[in-house]
Amino acid sequence: MSGAPGGTALQSVCVFCGSSVGRHPEYAVAARRLGAVLALRGVRVVYGGGRVGLMGALADAALESGGNVVGVIPEALRTSELAHDRLSDLRVVSSMHERKALMAELSDAFVALPGGYGTLDELFEVVTCAQLGIHRKPIALLDAAGYFEPLAAMLDRAVEEGFLSPEHRALIMCANTPEALLGCLQTHHQAAVAERQAAGEAG
Ligand code: AMP
Repeated sequence: MSGAPGGTALQSVCVFCGSSVGRHPEYAVAARRLGAVLALRGVRVVYGGGRVGLMGALADAALESGGNVVGVIPEALRTSELAHDRLSDLRVVSSMHERKALMAELSDAFVALPGGYGTLDELFEVVTCAQLGIHRKPIALLDAAGYFEPLAAMLDRAVEEGFLSPEHRALIMCANTPEALLGCLQTHHQAAVAERQAAGEAG
């Protein structure tokens, strides 16, 4: 990836997204744009390994732009209809838990595109771990066609009602374009790396 000094460029981004394409064509357009932008910037894409829905749109676009795409799929979902067969690397794991752990381990940051329970489960697991201080990897929503507006409103309500601190609410960033999204992720990634280096030097 171009631009970031001192070896702090994002190398690998994990994308959570629907196994369906959704009702509006803008969702697949956003998935394709994100895949292409990541590939063109040399950022590896880590995702659930499927070839259906937005997952397939993301992976196909990244591969068409010469990207490195790693799928992490549980054995049970690795049927010919569901698994992508042209990825740079397909890691087959034995459970959904193992999948989430490996996707997180392989990535510097997390992005959610529109999706259903699977996407929301993956998003909230990584944000819960960030809230507990288990990792410092940035997390952002790519808000295609305003899909995440009701979720953002729900999170704001959780703050108003005293269930979520403003500091933890801010762990989920949001952007409307892949370029803006990558800008947010890069800034936060660099800050986290600098903090780790400072802690290392102090200790
Ligand atoms: P959903 O949002 O419910 O469609 O689920 C999508 C998310 O769950 C993706 O980010 C995947 O990691 C995972 N997932 C759900 N269905 C599949 C599938 N058929 N193949 C691969 N991964 C899937």
